[in-house]
Amino acid sequence: MAGEPQDDCLFCKVVGGTIPATIVRETETTLAFRDINPQAPTHVLVIPKEHHRDAAALAAEAPQIAADVLRETQAVADEEQLESYRIVFNTGSGAGQTVWHAHAHVLGGRGLEWPPG
Ligand code: AMP
Ligand code: ZN
Repeated sequence: MAGEPQDDCLFCKVVGGTIPATIVRETETTLAFRDINPQAPTHVLVIPKEHHRDAAALAAEAPQIAADVLRETQAVADEEQLESYRIVFNTGSGAGQTVWHAHAHVLGGRGLEWPPG
């Protein structure tokens, strides 16, 4: 069922505490933690605690929680004192998605080229 924890999902395990993470923020519905392979001085992942496979599924299945995730990206940026930052939702393997639990990358602390690679 949409939103239920998945046994084989890395980020469900982070939410459940069986895989450690450097948590920077937590709300009732979201978790924010540092990416294990940072691509910028600030690289934080914001995830819904519920399992949804990608950003579009999250928006369709739990729009209020999708809004919570977006609100938290701003809160992370504020805490990290980022004037400018980029929010990325890689969607599909061709775009680099490797974890099939919706997550927003919050990237900042260096110049960010546009268009991205
Ligand atoms: P994506 O490639 O968009 O699906 O993003 C998945 C991200 O999760 C990558 O940037 C990984 O570096 C990151 N990642 C994988 N395992 C962990 C972990 N245990 N803790 C924190 N970040 C992780
Ligand atoms: Zn999951």
